[in-house]
Amino acid sequence: MSRPGIGVGAPAGPAAVGAWPADPASAATPVAPGAPDVARLAAASSTASELDARTSVCRACPRLVAWREQVATERRAAYLRQPYWGRPVPAWGPGDARVALVGLAPAAHGGNRTGRIFTGDRSGDWLYAALYRAGLAALPTSVRLGDGQRLVGTRILAGVHCAPPANKPTAAERDACRPWLVRGLELLAPTLRVVVALGHFAWQTTWPALRDAGYAGVPPRTPAFGHGAEVTAGGIVVLGMYHPSPRNTFTGLLTEQMTDAVLGRAATLGGVHSADQ
Ligand code: SF4
Repeated sequence: MSRPGIGVGAPAGPAAVGAWPADPASAATPVAPGAPDVARLAAASSTASELDARTSVCRACPRLVAWREQVATERRAAYLRQPYWGRPVPAWGPGDARVALVGLAPAAHGGNRTGRIFTGDRSGDWLYAALYRAGLAALPTSVRLGDGQRLVGTRILAGVHCAPPANKPTAAERDACRPWLVRGLELLAPTLRVVVALGHFAWQTTWPALRDAGYAGVPPRTPAFGHGAEVTAGGIVVLGMYHPSPRNTFTGLLTEQMTDAVLGRAATLGGVHSADQ
């Protein structure tokens, strides 16, 4: 499998458009230089792949653009022989998914390095192993964009697509990025049956996004979050799951059994089975 630049003195800085295998964008992909452009380009995206391409070249948040590119330039010592993605990490998975997972934002040396959401850190290792056990991913590991991994009937979305300093996006950055999520949910509407919110923040992000995406019957007030919470609304089921962060998994707050219970429930509700692979 092609892994650009690894072991041969990978160039520092963000990936050039089209330089990685499976890069969703091309030189013709329009770039959003500001928040109004995000709203315009997201609304005008007619497919998930078009939406992902546009997300992956977005430059609407100056602080996050500077941070993601600085991290990609300086790199962590352990990854100096690897290229960094250093761009927005788009949603990932088929555009006709029946199951959607929603996370918060990529990590500086996780998704911002590998180009794939929830990939390159311990949270992602935990999540993809569980997705594989549930029949929602083709492989138990996710290494980086273009590694051959594939989601099955499942798409992973995010509230914010660029790695934020200290893992904390500002309210303005969350608002700026929100149209990518809302449009992603709109485009999934014909097939979507179940949403899994990965953690409390993702839960809080998911409900208003579903309302804005036009899912009728979504309650005006956000329901209470909990691991295993299950709410039927707007023609879909929303499940809550503790975030698979090392803090939660190392302490046993989230176990493999608990993870499998929620993702297994999502697979059942979504009608996704291993045979779909
Ligand atoms: S956080 Fe979202 S809106 Fe801001 S630059 Fe990244 S992709 Fe664009």
